[in-house]
Amino acid sequence: MSDKKRPPIDIDNLHVETLGVRAGVRRTEFNEHSEAMFLTSSFCFDSAEDAAYGFANAEKGFIYSRFTNPTVAMFQDRLAALEGGEACIASSSGMAATMTVAMAHLQAGDHVVCSRSVFGATIQLFNTILNKFGIETTYVDMSDLKAWAAAVKPNTKLFYLETPSNPLTEVADIEAISKIAKSANALYVVDNCFCTPALQKPLELGADVIIHSATKYLDGQGRVLGGAIVGSKEFIMGKAFPYVRTAGPTLSAFNAWVVLKGLETLNIRMEKQSESALELAQWLEAQPAVERVYHPGLKSHPQYELARKQQRMGGPILSFTLKGGKEAAWKVIDSTRLLSITANLGDTRTTITHPATTTHVRVSPEARAAAGITDSLVRIAVGLENIEDIKNDLFPGLKV
Ligand SMILES: *Cc1c(COP(=O)(O)O)cnc(C)c1O
Repeated sequence: MSDKKRPPIDIDNLHVETLGVRAGVRRTEFNEHSEAMFLTSSFCFDSAEDAAYGFANAEKGFIYSRFTNPTVAMFQDRLAALEGGEACIASSSGMAATMTVAMAHLQAGDHVVCSRSVFGATIQLFNTILNKFGIETTYVDMSDLKAWAAAVKPNTKLFYLETPSNPLTEVADIEAISKIAKSANALYVVDNCFCTPALQKPLELGADVIIHSATKYLDGQGRVLGGAIVGSKEFIMGKAFPYVRTAGPTLSAFNAWVVLKGLETLNIRMEKQSESALELAQWLEAQPAVERVYHPGLKSHPQYELARKQQRMGGPILSFTLKGGKEAAWKVIDSTRLLSITANLGDTRTTITHPATTTHVRVSPEARAAAGITDSLVRIAVGLENIEDIKNDLFPGLKV
């Protein structure tokens, strides 16, 4: 046997499909092809001196799985490569990722400007938890650039948004908002859960930090909870890593392995599910029972041009309103047999949801009405089933 070491791959020139299956791999002495799952809480040292060195340089080696684990590191490196970020830290869920960014970056007396159309638990986090520690949040209409600028105060430290929005697929101008964040000296955080790096690269458009619920499209198969934060080495290793190390919202090695495997099919799933979502959206627009369809790939979408500019495709999520109010919306949902009736999304299986009575029920009726989440609205997150089967499942409930 020769002792020649094969040089590592150079990820700088690789495309998203290739990074999804190749980036971040660390092989053990056994040269396994598929990534190993390191189900161990701690790691051993060869000597007391090595242990002391390990603790002094915690980010370099493996010590204890609350903050360093090879399977988790492979997931982090792969996602950082996909997003085009310098570093990534994983977390136990998407909410843990948002909490980590807030705890790592903010302190009492700071102010946050946040899009009104973010994930419900994100609003709860800012309003009911961070608020208790003296962090105040102002909500703005995400497509109103003047509102972002007007909300800035001397103590504003964070801008936060999610695009496209849930469930109305409203699109925020990531690049235009980055300029406002920069002039306010605020950390600009984008939740890239709905598009993923397969369809949208917020860091290239001026975002400072990406957060992910890996529970959704990164796993893509509805199996585990997970989250991640991607950004500069300075922010991730200097601020987020010390928080995760100390507070412990850690991704388990098992879940990291599942999500790492999910990333291998991310691009192909996102392309197929986006393509099917657009076809379904166009089909729904032609149904007499349907009032209005929301999907960024539709020419009728108010931000169609902006979506084309910053997203590679429209994404797998669409929503639509029915002419017959809540009764008609529930009839469509209850007439399906194939689609899953669940509030979750980001799965290979198509899901159907009534936002007003489930995901957005904690939002006041006035705020729901202001956000356009009416009782006749239905959301669909399109999966990998044959599109004709999805249409056939919806058709009986759409008969007028
Ligand atoms: C689900 C979701 C979250 C929260 O993620 P969890 O993994 O459930 O904690 C955050 N943002 C968006 C857009 C989501 O859909």
